[in-house]
Amino acid sequence: MNPAIKIAQKEYAKVATWILEYPGICIYCGEDADSIDHLVPRAISGKTDRKYVPVVPACLNCNIIINDSPIFTIKGRAAIVAYSIRKTHKKELKIPFHNQQWFADFSPRMRANLEKRQMERQLLKQRLKCLDRGGMVYMLTESSADDDPLDSPLPALTLRFTIQGRESYPQ
Ligand SMILES: [Zn+2]
Repeated sequence: MNPAIKIAQKEYAKVATWILEYPGICIYCGEDADSIDHLVPRAISGKTDRKYVPVVPACLNCNIIINDSPIFTIKGRAAIVAYSIRKTHKKELKIPFHNQQWFADFSPRMRANLEKRQMERQLLKQRLKCLDRGGMVYMLTESSADDDPLDSPLPALTLRFTIQGRESYPQ
């Protein structure tokens, strides 16, 4: 069999239990998984062996970024996404976090707009946090000594829910 598929299958074996437990979560960034990611692109696997290529849950954004990258490990693919997000949102990510008081000087409409953008920035940062740890799969299974015990294990999901569902956000 194609050596790339063998690598991908080994990789899948490491995360299979996690996927069973969290089938709806992007294995890379922790967002809602609205697509499946083939660990080997069609161009490399070929059509016949496509059925042996393992798939993992991924959000569409991560899936699109990874696209046809010839990297078959979860950590490697997470690194590709992290690099792309940092490059695409370079300026945005430099904007500091503002507190409620800072927003108070703006008109309600402007304020809502700025708050929404801050939420989106926070979400990007949460995704990057997962991606930098090698993917959400490792964020949840390998705890780090400097972890804040109060941190939600699913921060990106919580934040995204807040962006879509409500006007306000947690302080
Ligand atoms: Zn993702």
